[in-house]
Amino acid sequence: MAADLGADNQAFDEKHDVLKSTQTVIHKALEKLGYPEEVYELLKEPIRMLTVKIPVRMDDGSVKIFTGYRAQHNDAVGPTKGGIRFHPNVSEKEVKALSIWMTLKCGIVNLPYGGGKGGIICDPREMSFRELEALSRGYVRAISQIVGPTKDIPAPDVFTNSQIMAWMMDEYSRIDEFNSPGFITGKPLVLGGSHGRETATAKGVTICIREAAKKRGINLEGARVVVQGFGNAGSFLSKFMHDAGAKVIGISDAYGALYDPNGLDIDYLLDRRDSFGTVTKLFDNTISNKELLELDCDILVPAAIENQITEENAHNIRAQIVVEAANGPTTLEATQILTDRGILLVPDVLASAGGVTVSYFEWVQNNQGYYWTEEEIDEKLEKVIVQSFENVYNTAETRRVDMRLAAYMVGVRKSAEASRFRGWI
Ligand code: GLU
Repeated sequence: MAADLGADNQAFDEKHDVLKSTQTVIHKALEKLGYPEEVYELLKEPIRMLTVKIPVRMDDGSVKIFTGYRAQHNDAVGPTKGGIRFHPNVSEKEVKALSIWMTLKCGIVNLPYGGGKGGIICDPREMSFRELEALSRGYVRAISQIVGPTKDIPAPDVFTNSQIMAWMMDEYSRIDEFNSPGFITGKPLVLGGSHGRETATAKGVTICIREAAKKRGINLEGARVVVQGFGNAGSFLSKFMHDAGAKVIGISDAYGALYDPNGLDIDYLLDRRDSFGTVTKLFDNTISNKELLELDCDILVPAAIENQITEENAHNIRAQIVVEAANGPTTLEATQILTDRGILLVPDVLASAGGVTVSYFEWVQNNQGYYWTEEEIDEKLEKVIVQSFENVYNTAETRRVDMRLAAYMVGVRKSAEASRFRGWI
């Protein structure tokens, strides 16, 4: 079956250039904060961007050369931090934008990091376990000089998981000739992973949904929720919403979407999904991702990839609250349309910051060699996200801006200030 391009768009979307739109909001945020133009000149692009070629011997005996990237946006606050994405649509511009978003996330939840991001152009759905291991190790060898526990700390992202983090940690430890669990986060528990890391992004999104629902007087019990994407964030989020008494009426993957006005059987779907979050292939009566986004619901959560809500469908969104679990799912034009229509939009850099928050807890535990319980992690995460939500929400109210611009204002400030104190600008 051909992929439903609604959730799996082809090559870089030139019309909705995520780097350009991020730069536009960064510029506005710095202007609102009163920073001079040179601060924007420093922050509009990563300070460091490495492009690497990774040769991998494939199972059929041929050698394939993969292209990978690692972007480090700004390391004035501390080491850079952010995931590695394995996806056919990875591009230099996308990785750059993603690294800027990581700076914003770390600023919003107040972590001692700047933003970083990596990506490899590949389709792990079509690669064997052995090929994936060779690619993961090859990537670490290629970027080893610029990463490390006190320089730049990678993590999982789209189509990468704890197994891939384990191979990468092992490869780095060999190069470093030292056991280096703090080199990467999102590891399996036995290798120094943290309790709660796997569910952290979804937990952060859940907390943001709860707080946004309070602001809008929506009772989560019985609220109709639609989730686009059934990967790490989307699947756990559907479960948490379901457990909170909400009715998850729609979910999707890259191939299509499922809809049931009475609520889907989330436990069954979780049981049947594969490791890439694919589940709709098992059903005949699917709808498209486009139809899914326009369903009548209370809360819409785009949890797949970029540029899903655009000027073309923003007028048809029927949710009262949109909470972005994916990075960059809504274009700037669409943000304006939703805001004008009175829809509360909780932006990605706030809503999806739970992942990097628990990654930070993982790194702290690796550094101190003493590990916390899941309850301790949950309690810490809850505090951080509630406080960050309030901070961004109040900034939006007092500065009379939408929550995206407010989040950028809160998120960019630390890197701007740290760059100044260091005498860079
Ligand atoms: N890839 C995740 C993100 O986009 C997590 C990054 C991390 O844990 O460092 O936020």
